[in-house]
Amino acid sequence: MSRLVVRLCVRVSQQATARSAVSPRRIPAFIRPVSTSAGLRSLTRYDETTDWQKKLTPEQYVVTREKGTEEPFSGIYLNHSEVGMYHCVCCDAPLFSSEAKYDSGTGWPAFKEAHGTWERDESHASIIRRPDNSLGSTGTEVLCKNCDAHLGHVFEDGPDPTGQRFCINSVALTFKARGNGNPEEN
Ligand SMILES: [Zn+2]
Repeated sequence: MSRLVVRLCVRVSQQATARSAVSPRRIPAFIRPVSTSAGLRSLTRYDETTDWQKKLTPEQYVVTREKGTEEPFSGIYLNHSEVGMYHCVCCDAPLFSSEAKYDSGTGWPAFKEAHGTWERDESHASIIRRPDNSLGSTGTEVLCKNCDAHLGHVFEDGPDPTGQRFCINSVALTFKARGNGNPEEN
């Protein structure tokens, strides 16, 4: 009997030791340097260690990292008509050219195609599509290929010749006018 008690005590203490060994340790904060060289295709994928809440405004964070949607007719790029490139607000990847922008009348910036698209081949574009059933019916979510930022949705009711309507949140974008910051054009 006494031997059994001793054996039980040993097992309990072994378990306690094992539990303390796997107790959650604090993972040190890890900040990645963000490339500022516009136009370069980064091969570095962002992951959960990127502190988007520090990098983004609350509105940008909700839209891009939590798949939110800005209020219609509220975005700063809805009626924006400058010539240039719309980049990902999170990672700066070039997403949509101003040449593909049009007024869809829906309240969000709309584009006929993603930058880098060649005859509907989006393998060189900076966006990816993902099925999304949260809209009630089956929809297609548009995300940044580089950092998985939620950008908006794409619909099949766009103008010719693509028939595509990329419905994109302004807060997911940052605009760069053509020629700005490009020494080759100075
Ligand atoms: Zn991105």
